Amino acid sequence: MKKTILLIIIILLLINIYAYGTTGYTNISNIALYNNAAPDSGIKGTLKMSSKVEIIEKKDEWCKVETQDGKQGWIEKYFITIPSEKYVVNNNQYNINIRTSPATSSKQVGQLKPGSKAKYIDTYHSWHIIEYNKSEYYIASWLTDIEYKQSEKIYFLYDSINIRNKASLSSKVIAQGNRGDSFEVVGEENGWYKIVLKDNSCGYVAAWLATHDIDSYTEEHAIYKKTTHDLNLRTGPSAGYDRIFTLKKGEMVKTVAAENGWDKIVTQSGYVGWCNNYYLKEALPLSGKVILLDPGHGGYDPGAISYSGKFEKHINLDVAWNLKEILNKSGAAVYMTRTSDTYISNRERGKLADNLGADILLSIHHNSLNNSDYFGLSTYYNTINYKDPSYGYDLAEAIYLNAITINGVYRDGILDRNFEVLRETNTPAALIEIGFMSNPTEEMNIHNISFQNVMTEKIADGIIDYFGN
Ligand SMILES: [Zn+2]
Repeated sequence: MKKTILLIIIILLLINIYAYGTTGYTNISNIALYNNAAPDSGIKGTLKMSSKVEIIEKKDEWCKVETQDGKQGWIEKYFITIPSEKYVVNNNQYNINIRTSPATSSKQVGQLKPGSKAKYIDTYHSWHIIEYNKSEYYIASWLTDIEYKQSEKIYFLYDSINIRNKASLSSKVIAQGNRGDSFEVVGEENGWYKIVLKDNSCGYVAAWLATHDIDSYTEEHAIYKKTTHDLNLRTGPSAGYDRIFTLKKGEMVKTVAAENGWDKIVTQSGYVGWCNNYYLKEALPLSGKVILLDPGHGGYDPGAISYSGKFEKHINLDVAWNLKEILNKSGAAVYMTRTSDTYISNRERGKLADNLGADILLSIHHNSLNNSDYFGLSTYYNTINYKDPSYGYDLAEAIYLNAITINGVYRDGILDRNFEVLRETNTPAALIEIGFMSNPTEEMNIHNISFQNVMTEKIADGIIDYFGN
């Protein structure tokens, strides 16, 4: 008996050691960092979507976290997504340089030897960030492979998902899976997961169709509601629970769960609590907003030309139509700078936003470089004409932080650029480069309708966040 107790204590200690130093990311746009593991303990501030945190303690449904700027506080574990444990592996016969920043011109601090591996942290600007000598450094993604710790799983998010024999949409379909199906994942290649099938053979699935963490919150489940009266926010799902504070009539909230006529909600200021849902009415989060979408290029200007010879102007227009439909469903009035293959100057596009009295302008593009190794998603803003530099930045950031939650979409930055379409307008404006047309895998991904659907949903979530916060 004593031995059993001792064993349990040892296991508990090990779990704690394992939990310490685990990295997670917030999975909702604006969430409170509480003083203690209780929704009425007061808040220290809020965290944006995709904020990186170190989990330092777990208690019931709560995690104590440390933010990137050193603040400590508590968040419900439901609002933190913990990525799988992965390694960057050198499967070549030569050493690979480890550097201080994502550029071959940056300082070299060491080398990854053939056959050895390092802990994977993230991917930025086409370089993997790894843990090396207890710090974060960069290694070229195109020279290395990603492998998973054995026993890591992924779960399919949709029905009738194709499993292929290679990490490419042009490869042969060898099996299919449905929502909730889980598979052991052993590797990751250009936005595709390598998974183990029932007969122990391997197949590939597009990463944007799967998740590692089926129990955590995802923004795709958000239901927006407005309070019909001044309404008490409570710590649990009945009037018997403590009141946290009173929401004003007409306030927009996000419903994340429901129980016995009560909704668990997140307020626009990041508080989490429960409300009697008799006094909550479903609402369109973009009602009354005017949005101008700008599919880049057109007419005699093809934009970038992809690895296989496709024109950027066409895919920009496809994505804009798709996004328009989603934004319309959320209540926005959506206009487009062009609805067919015609040329308009960037100056005219910017001016059109002002003439319409648009609340925002979003220009849609796809990237290209003369190096097919590069991949990733970036958003842009411009500070030249604005009185308030946060004007376009907030929009660029909100879209970026949502888009990079898609599995298989990698960070390429939020950048200040003097783009004419952003400069020649007084409307808050951002530009997105969804992926690299010059990268053969990304080119195929961005032309795939299921990828476009997931991407446009996330861009719309970002726009909703921009107006909500
Ligand atoms: Zn472009």
